[in-house]
Amino acid sequence: MITPKNLDEALTLLADRAAGWKPCAGGTDLMVLFEAGKLNHTKFVNIAALTELHGIEERSDAIEIKALTTYTDILKHATIQREFPSLVTAAALTGAVAIQNRGTIGGNIVNASPAADSPPALLAYDAQVELISVKGVRRLAYADFHKGYKQMDLQPGELLKSVLLPRTHAELHHYYRKVGTRRAQAISKVCFCGVVEREDRIKNIRIALGSVAPIPLRARRTETFLIGKQLSSKIIDEAKKIIDQEISPIDDIRSTAKYRRRVTQNLLEEFLCGTGSTN
Ligand SMILES: Cc1cc2nc3c(=O)[nH]c(=O)nc-3n(C[C@H](O)[C@H](O)[C@H](O)COP(=O)(O)OP(=O)(O)OC[C@H]3O[C@@H](n4cnc5c(N)ncnc54)[C@H](O)[C@@H]3O)c2cc1C
Repeated sequence: MITPKNLDEALTLLADRAAGWKPCAGGTDLMVLFEAGKLNHTKFVNIAALTELHGIEERSDAIEIKALTTYTDILKHATIQREFPSLVTAAALTGAVAIQNRGTIGGNIVNASPAADSPPALLAYDAQVELISVKGVRRLAYADFHKGYKQMDLQPGELLKSVLLPRTHAELHHYYRKVGTRRAQAISKVCFCGVVEREDRIKNIRIALGSVAPIPLRARRTETFLIGKQLSSKIIDEAKKIIDQEISPIDDIRSTAKYRRRVTQNLLEEFLCGTGSTN
């Protein structure tokens, strides 16, 4: 492991493809692989102390959460608590205090587990991500970042620099629910995050899910169906059928595809009816 003095030095190391350096942030995912003897890679750049990648900045249009921000930083941030409560709920449900103090939002995104807890909240808040390399910075919608199981739009030599959450004055109803075996220290069987702006009809809605597809999933067809609709039991039943077609859950050690389908539909109903675990 090598510890660079600053971001430029880190990016220069990562740009040397022949040398084969990879970043290590909090190490909470990497160290689990190491302990299990499954970490084949040995050359890591320790980015944990890079001040350029720490901090949360408030701008009028967006909150910028830099990649090394920990769950504890998110939990304590007053503006995020007020405007993006589902991300705070996701942080509170991630691991326990030690992981919340050490694990970073950037590591959670790039580790690219479909069962991770922050991604559904980031998708529902329409986040963008900024990536940085020796070539400069590029920005893309977070919804376009995950391409397939553990495949991302992340070029060799690039670091995740920050996550941007667009701010709005709209009156929103926020909903986040992680369904797991226990209330703490569990990997989700289904994770659901929804944000809705509603008058008598649904004006705007975003729905995102974890653990029901190879990537964190935005339920766009369900959203499109619901926009402009006045809620009724018939509309909710139709939306449940559409979301069932959008997901592709599997049977695994934590749950079954059948259970995940049923729970996804139930959580959609709970969200739309405005009951249950809301923020
Ligand atoms: C006991 C335990 C409980 C956990 N509970 C949960 C949970 O409830 N929910 C959940 O979602 N996760 C959980 N995790 C997983 C883990 O803690 C999170 O995914 C964490 O956010 C990872 O961040 P990190 O900084 O430790 O990543 P690291 O382990 O440092 O890195 C993870 C991956 O991301 C890459 N990476 C890191 N930062 C960057 C960057 N800025 N740019 C490019 N690549 C980068 C690394 O190269 C590596 O491939 C748990 C882990 C443990 C050990």
